Amino acid sequence: MDITKLKSSITDKIDESRQQLTDLCLKIHANPELGFQEYKAAQWLTEHLSENGFTVERNIGDLPTAFRATYGEGLPAIAVLAEYDALPEVGHACGHNLIATSAVAAGIAAAIAVSELGGSVVVIGTPAEELYGGKILMAERGTFDHIDIAMMVHPGVQDLVTIETLACQTLDVEFFGREAHAAAQPEAGINALEAMVQSFTAINSLRQHTSEKSRIHGIITDGGQAANIVPAHSAGNFLVRAETDDYLDELKQKVINCFSGAAIATGARLEYRWAETRYAAMRNNLTLARLFQQNMQSLGRATRFSEPGFNFGSTDMGNVSKLVPSIHPFVAIAPNNVIAHSPDFARAAASPAGIQGLIDAAKAMAMTIADLLADKEMITMAREEFVQKK
Ligand SMILES: [Zn+2]
Repeated sequence: MDITKLKSSITDKIDESRQQLTDLCLKIHANPELGFQEYKAAQWLTEHLSENGFTVERNIGDLPTAFRATYGEGLPAIAVLAEYDALPEVGHACGHNLIATSAVAAGIAAAIAVSELGGSVVVIGTPAEELYGGKILMAERGTFDHIDIAMMVHPGVQDLVTIETLACQTLDVEFFGREAHAAAQPEAGINALEAMVQSFTAINSLRQHTSEKSRIHGIITDGGQAANIVPAHSAGNFLVRAETDDYLDELKQKVINCFSGAAIATGARLEYRWAETRYAAMRNNLTLARLFQQNMQSLGRATRFSEPGFNFGSTDMGNVSKLVPSIHPFVAIAPNNVIAHSPDFARAAASPAGIQGLIDAAKAMAMTIADLLADKEMITMAREEFVQKK
């Protein structure tokens, strides 16, 4: 079968299952589950894959809601990644129901290319993108060791083939002071809240002298118990983000200096913990990006490369992109003024535009897999580019 015919059977396959895919996507949307609790979504997605001839394995990387579904046996092995976690309060306000369904649809359609050309397609279910970075744990535990290429598509407000993301790590901070009557004997107290307040001030000063794309933001989770007691304990949760992994290391030390300075100034004792997982900045593979772009354009979408400065935040796909040639394009499902993680975005993730986004994303990914399997030289090129950028 020539590649044009192959691609039209791929798009036909996805069009034929449009209703089924819509139902699956809306069912996940109506049942939002937080990170590592996505039992229903994982069940529905794997059921659908196994009905379509995929071999399903669960508990991948020791994560109960992770899965791997494989079609074909040989190399190259091309992975499509599914996210399906939701956010507290706002549900599927990041549209991961669309990511999951598009990944499953792409995998099933790409199976046609695998049957014709060999290789294998692997749909990998990656839980807890939002809160814990499930892919980071899976990466450390070897999930991507035998994968040649990885891809996924995220819903957004623009059609983009590349994105810039920030390296990011979470920090928990506590100050320990001493209680005292705030009016009768203030001199006996050590004020842990003041240490936290001074830390915020110091970080605000630091922010003037960090590179432009850096982000440092936090909340106070404990600020004391009563206004007439000198707070003996304060706690906060912070995110530190930077353009590159190296600059993040530098910035982390500067942020800790802010807390240490406040500890000295107030006499409170500082304790802090960096999260075990750290989101890496995304390394876009341009060889793959160009193929994906052509396929999106063939569907009538004006998918383009992102302009420098467009910043998406952070994603655990960044960590995958450090291990295998990867792409993480965006598909528009809402107008430009709709903000991710908002109730409006949650509505868009169940709208006709959302469904169309998932259909187009699935088609473009499956066609890109067909391109790669039909011309293995493209995989070599993607690999060479990946090694060069290391
Ligand atoms: Zn997301």
